[in-house]
Amino acid sequence: MTIKTPILGLLPEELAEKIGPPKYRADQIFEWLHGKLAASFAEMTNLPKDFRDTLEQTYLITTLNPVSAEKANDGSIKWLFETPRKDAVEAVLIPTESRRTLCISTQVGCKFGCTFCASGQAGFERNLGADEIISEVLSAERLNPFERISHIVIMGMGEPFDNADNLLRALKTLNHPSGRGIGKRRITISTVGIPKKILWFAEQNLPFELSVSLHSAVDSVRTSIMPVNKAFPTKELFEACWKYTEKTNRVITFEYILIGGVNTDETNASALISALKGRKAKVNLIPYNPIDEYPQKRPALETIRGFEQKLIRAGIPATVRFSKGSSVNGACGQLRLRHIEKKQ
Ligand code: SF4
Repeated sequence: MTIKTPILGLLPEELAEKIGPPKYRADQIFEWLHGKLAASFAEMTNLPKDFRDTLEQTYLITTLNPVSAEKANDGSIKWLFETPRKDAVEAVLIPTESRRTLCISTQVGCKFGCTFCASGQAGFERNLGADEIISEVLSAERLNPFERISHIVIMGMGEPFDNADNLLRALKTLNHPSGRGIGKRRITISTVGIPKKILWFAEQNLPFELSVSLHSAVDSVRTSIMPVNKAFPTKELFEACWKYTEKTNRVITFEYILIGGVNTDETNASALISALKGRKAKVNLIPYNPIDEYPQKRPALETIRGFEQKLIRAGIPATVRFSKGSSVNGACGQLRLRHIEKKQ
């Protein structure tokens, strides 16, 4: 059996090189795939029939099958998509008045084992291909065809920089004006914080937004919830972050899940303030959404607002983000974990 080439991850110029002249054919195909969301070559009715048949025999249009879709009271929708290789990835649509943000995954599972995250608890299986990452967006668009996705956050299952080549290929394709045309500034890459990858990203000169999962600036606390901190302690992480901001002149968003009794006290607030004061940094404070595997508590509202105010008073922009979708296992990896448990 011939193995077909996944076509979704090819940019128009690469497609043109593969299929040969005339060049407008590649542009037509790219527009069908990414602009008109075609899921089959048969839909590409302005291409000659024999050419469509050749494409069908040579290329694969990766589609993801929605195994489940759960809608939360706040309007967010969480999908569990089955890939052509029959494993499962999650994507969450988060609508607000002005945005339709899709949170997507880059890996099946994750190697990093953060204690508060269901993706880390189920272990790592594999990297997603660029075609599969793109297909998360196209599949979500097909399922909700009336309003286009305006923003993407790479904050689902997996560590994006651990699958950097496929991720950047996917993002360049999604950003392409003949396709979805999602603006670079509307795309946020969220990393667990590997210093050498942050330095590498600074060199790429790509104006995607960068966010770093911090969750504590105290090494002992961060190590207890994020094993990656053992290998790359906060000193090394912050050094890389400030080199990134110097090189790119861009602000880094630090994600900070507020976990009751773990990282909300005065010591943690002071460490965070001294690390970020005077830097190109802002903080998203996310009250913890408990999972069975890490039964810690969400802090009281008073503690959440108190922590936020300490940062603001120190001149650090901080916003509390009440995570959407928590009523549908909205936190990263939970839906897949339940799916795996059901299959066992
Ligand atoms: S928070 Fe991110 S890096 Fe940590 S285990 Fe979950 S998916 Fe992996």
